[in-house]
Amino acid sequence: MFDALTDRLGGIFDGLTGRGALSEKDVSAALREIRVALLEADVALPVVKDFISKVKERAVGEEVIRSVKPGQQVIKIVHDGLVEMLGGEDAETRLRVDNPPSVIMMAGLQGSGKTTTTAKIAKRLSERDKKKVLLASLDVRRPAAMEQLAVLADQLGANVTSLPIVQGQMPAEIARRALQAAKLGGHDVVFLDTAGRTSIDEQMMAEAAEIAKIAEPKETLLVADALTGQDAVETARRFHERLPLTGLVLTRMDGDGRGGAALSMRAVTGLPIKFLGTGEKLDGLDAFDAKRVAGRILGQGDIVSLVERAGDQLDQEKAERMAKRMRKGEFDLNDLAEQLKQMQKMGGLGGIMGMLPGAKKAKQAMAAANVDDNVIKRQEAIISSMTRKEREKPALLNASRRKRVAAGAGVEVSDVNKVLKMHRQMADMMKKMSKGGMKGMMNALGG
Ligand code: GDP
Repeated sequence: MFDALTDRLGGIFDGLTGRGALSEKDVSAALREIRVALLEADVALPVVKDFISKVKERAVGEEVIRSVKPGQQVIKIVHDGLVEMLGGEDAETRLRVDNPPSVIMMAGLQGSGKTTTTAKIAKRLSERDKKKVLLASLDVRRPAAMEQLAVLADQLGANVTSLPIVQGQMPAEIARRALQAAKLGGHDVVFLDTAGRTSIDEQMMAEAAEIAKIAEPKETLLVADALTGQDAVETARRFHERLPLTGLVLTRMDGDGRGGAALSMRAVTGLPIKFLGTGEKLDGLDAFDAKRVAGRILGQGDIVSLVERAGDQLDQEKAERMAKRMRKGEFDLNDLAEQLKQMQKMGGLGGIMGMLPGAKKAKQAMAAANVDDNVIKRQEAIISSMTRKEREKPALLNASRRKRVAAGAGVEVSDVNKVLKMHRQMADMMKKMSKGGMKGMMNALGG
């Protein structure tokens, strides 16, 4: 996601970090690059202009905090600006589904992923929120679409059903029938999956507007394909003119398209992005998180926040030293021990992993390797049973040394091996991350 933009910004910030002072000229130069990067990432021009001028105002006006490098400060300002542009930290992603039967109307162009997304959200509501859900397709022109929704409903367990298909009914009639069925059936949520066209036409809009009037949806979500970039923005703008949209869902965020669409759509419509579609499978849906997306756009944003959070807990210098080593791709067993200590201070593994992109996979891997907070304590014990030289140069740890370390920590040699393996993997990840920016990181994480 956002790979192109990420690479680009990564390059810019490489130039900015590691310098003592940052002049206004530097800020301007960086912002010029950011402007081009955003435009290339398909962010709409007015949105870019607005963003750049806001960031500049903030960056130039701001005093440089002594403990933070100016380059990092600009990164943070750009990061915060992106978060804001994406709807802020507390962007409203919850769906209003508290008044049964609550209607959720789904709109979008054909092929945008509307039907799949309908099923994904239904799955989420039924599994997480224990809602009873009814799915109704209003696509009378495409019988296949109606069947597709019924097939998806069948995969979603007993709490999700689809409205029986009655041939020859008009969309408005189906919508009324769905509402009636939901009232009688005690459904909490009714999805109305409206017909899509390959392009927007007046008839389609009129039909959707009529359904919105009849069904009074609590949520009207526009599903748009992130890969279509500027077209998606234009689609959003036109739908927003005619329908009481309450939110956006961007699909195919798993592809390597130009993610600027997310930034533009939010800015142009002012609508919250509620979910991101991240795959063809029905669990490929993420609640939108502005901070995370901004962090990914910036690439090293995650390192920055890691440093920031670490800085809250231990002294700033230590954190900066650590970040510097990480950026250089240096990572020995002392660093691993320090990381393990930090992990516990910063809310355990969950806290740290949550800040890393691709964290889901890494988390799964760690869960599979049975790494929990108790295990962390044991790992710390193992590392502290090593000599300083061994910690700096793990290659020294041959079989007999490993045996000694195991005995010292009261564990098996295989436990020592596990720590060494974990260190190798992390060192490898740091190296890739420092070389290839975010892409390297994602590769390192197998994402
Ligand atoms: P609709 O015509 O708008 O209802 O689109 P569909 O729901 O039928 O989706 C069209 C195609 O896009 C299908 O092959 C889906 O599996 C695929 N699709 C939907 N959402 C995503 C997504 O988030 N990521 C990926 N990679 N594919 C998706």
